[in-house]
Amino acid sequence: MARHLITSAIPYINGIKHLGNLVGSQLPADLYARYLRGRGHEVLFLCATDEHGTPAELAAAKAGKPVAEYCEEMHGVQAKIAEGFRLSFDHFGRSSSPQNHRLTQHFAGVLAEKGLIREVSETQMYSPTDGRYLPDRYIEGTCPNCGFDSARGDQCDNCTKQLDPVDLINPHSTISGATDLEMRETKHLYLRQSAMKDELEAWIDGKTDWPVLTTSIAKKWLNDGDGLQDRGITRDLDWGIPVRKGEEDWPGMEGKVFYVWFDAPIEYIACAQEWVEAGKGDDWERWWRTDKGAEDVTYTQFMGKDNVPFHTLGFPATILGSGEPWKLVDYIKSFNYLNYDGGQFSTSRGRGVFMDQALEILPADYWRWWLLSHAPESSDSEFTWENFQQSVNKDLADVLGNFVSRVTKFCRSKFGEEVPAGGSYGPQEEALIADLTARIAAYQGHMDAIEVRKAAQELRAIWVAGNEYLQSAAPWAAFKEDPERAATIVRLSLNLIRLYAVLSAPFIPDSAETMMNAFGPDAVRDWPAGTAADFEALEPGAAFTVPENLFAKIADESREDWQTRFAGTRS
Ligand SMILES: [Zn+2]
Repeated sequence: MARHLITSAIPYINGIKHLGNLVGSQLPADLYARYLRGRGHEVLFLCATDEHGTPAELAAAKAGKPVAEYCEEMHGVQAKIAEGFRLSFDHFGRSSSPQNHRLTQHFAGVLAEKGLIREVSETQMYSPTDGRYLPDRYIEGTCPNCGFDSARGDQCDNCTKQLDPVDLINPHSTISGATDLEMRETKHLYLRQSAMKDELEAWIDGKTDWPVLTTSIAKKWLNDGDGLQDRGITRDLDWGIPVRKGEEDWPGMEGKVFYVWFDAPIEYIACAQEWVEAGKGDDWERWWRTDKGAEDVTYTQFMGKDNVPFHTLGFPATILGSGEPWKLVDYIKSFNYLNYDGGQFSTSRGRGVFMDQALEILPADYWRWWLLSHAPESSDSEFTWENFQQSVNKDLADVLGNFVSRVTKFCRSKFGEEVPAGGSYGPQEEALIADLTARIAAYQGHMDAIEVRKAAQELRAIWVAGNEYLQSAAPWAAFKEDPERAATIVRLSLNLIRLYAVLSAPFIPDSAETMMNAFGPDAVRDWPAGTAADFEALEPGAAFTVPENLFAKIADESREDWQTRFAGTRS
């Protein structure tokens, strides 16, 4: 038994995520966690909401709520949806937790002691009316490029030109409308990533087994242009973790908070502390401190490609720079983007399917199966309703669902609701068992390597092999001449259902549970050992019940309705 720490990139708090977000981190992380647990390993699987920064403030203001209240509410909403998708987090934490406050302040203090933080004086737009510095997104004015009168401080939405707040003509505060804005000097802390370039590069060079997508992005940031840049880790905001040097004040930094990119990854560690605090575990250090038991932990992170720089450079700079014995990531699995029906998912335009909507129209397993079997691994992939319908109807309903239904119903009608005795496995059965044993080994190999699409393909092939066997062995024909032969075929087929339940659980946990429950609470749930016993776990006489239909097919009419409904402008 090995020990695996798994984290999914933490979703931002402002609103419900779409299916592209889901398949880029949380869902494949859940697949891997479920697989490793199924194989008997000890797993700690963590995720959280990322709650700080300007977008949270803006979303809260739009909702007419204090930001802390807004975040608490949205955390509850996201947690409930995660449960709906059966994301099996051991804890779903919050980056605004007291644990993360303390830990973030601790890291900043240690990094300062090591000389890895410097103070920089900058000028920033200040609004005397609002009594605060204004982040770029809180300033609007006329675009100097196209004349659009509602250009934001960071970008003009009309002509897409990147802007600096000082470029705007007649700038005003979006909070109060005040126009008496002035540039004021303000001090910020920078993490000296440039001083750590060699150490980071050596660490990344040692990761020869990482996906190319991960290392190529890291290398680009390390070496392009002037190389790795120092990054600001503080902001003039109210909402966030107050800047402190460990437990002490930080002179000159009063009223400032840490920038969200600095505190968000530290939440991975704080989340383990929250897990203990919530009474779900008793020792977080054996997962995170290599001096306290974490040296044998394998740590895997899941994320979309846009998050790779923070996880290969930003967060490791914090960990390595501290000089303390924290666990570093061992493997980073990153994903490309999922597109939606000929374009992109768009949160602002409501284009595409969002997680809450998906669960309103179909069970989680349908989505899990399609998303994972089409995960954007080697390139971007695209969701189309036709493809989704075909995948659900063929893979799930025709192949797996139909097999389970035919076998259990045939057995009930001819032998009753128990595994039939009589006969023994012949050449056809031996051939199937040999084929499946090899396929299960291949499936495990893909799962161990976190090759999600390949694993899905192999799992589907395992289902197909059972169907083909049933079709050619034809117990309904054999029954007339040779009932013992029919009993043998049915006995093996029932054993396949049990085996499929175990193997499929990481992908489609609810359906797997339904399949397993057909054999009662005492049925063997162990992962196959790769021996003949895997195909004989259900002995003659063992009782079963015919499960409900596992999957309903998607009709053309529903598909067309959904296609129209999710084309844009979420209501
Ligand atoms: Zn413009």
